[in-house]
Amino acid sequence: MDELVELYQEMILDHSKAPRNFGRLDPHTHHAEGYNPLCGDQCDITLTLRDGVIDEVKFTGAGCAISTASASLMTEAVKGKPIENADVLFAKIHHLLTTDDPPADDLGKLQVFAGVRNFPMRVKCATLAWHTLRSALRGANDVVTTE
Ligand code: ZN
Repeated sequence: MDELVELYQEMILDHSKAPRNFGRLDPHTHHAEGYNPLCGDQCDITLTLRDGVIDEVKFTGAGCAISTASASLMTEAVKGKPIENADVLFAKIHHLLTTDDPPADDLGKLQVFAGVRNFPMRVKCATLAWHTLRSALRGANDVVTTE
């Protein structure tokens, strides 16, 4: 188990230091901002939806390592996928972070966040990007908070 924990930490560190899909998409079809007041994390997501598929997605933001890594891994996970897949992933991530059940096999790299549930204060850091993505997909331009 310690090896797994180390692997998780390495992947989170890697994505927080070198976030994937970092930046702003212009033009874009959807946009939302998210804020996690507990930790001060900010997340700004722009994406382009084409025929129900998330064609391109980028994020900017400032926050802790977990929130940045989560946004980075989220963009990798949903890019090129239909909206429905993003919704399913959101539900699985939420389940992963808020229960003690074993991670779903098909979560792939997102399983790294299993390590976060031991730190309840950080769960909202890990879900911020997902809440923001959902808000963007729903076309709500309001700022979402994790509260
Ligand atoms: Zn945070």
